[in-house]
Amino acid sequence: MSRIDEVGSRDGWRCWLCDKPVDPDMSVNDPRGPSVDAVITKARSKSKGAATERLAHRGCNTRKGAVAAVAPWPTELFVVDPAPLVETAEALQRKGGRVVVARCPTERDGDDAAAWLLDRLSRLAPGLVVRTSVEPAGGQVMVVVQA
Ligand SMILES: [Zn+2]
Repeated sequence: MSRIDEVGSRDGWRCWLCDKPVDPDMSVNDPRGPSVDAVITKARSKSKGAATERLAHRGCNTRKGAVAAVAPWPTELFVVDPAPLVETAEALQRKGGRVVVARCPTERDGDDAAAWLLDRLSRLAPGLVVRTSVEPAGGQVMVVVQA
């Protein structure tokens, strides 16, 4: 079994950054093809060589193209000032706590964003246990993630 097959089946053939499916049969030279990304979190960078390997599209991979890891929020969510997901997940893994990740115009939008986040974070940062809440904030709502 190749490294890509191993990491790919563990990650369910889904890119850890854009959250879209990765085709295992596509050429590794294609931007949409599979590649292994080495994710070095700040907490782990102290112990050398303890990078986590994640499946990414070649074009999304931080080693083979992108400068910094960026995990996009979906355009169908109505969120204002969304926090960067990779950095937020890293900070929560490192020191836990409570982070306001976005504001939404209505409670319904907040609930949608909170549900999406819970699911998204389970793949972005496996092993990180979080809960989300939606709290009123001056006519809007805040979406809060707590680790
Ligand atoms: Zn991708």
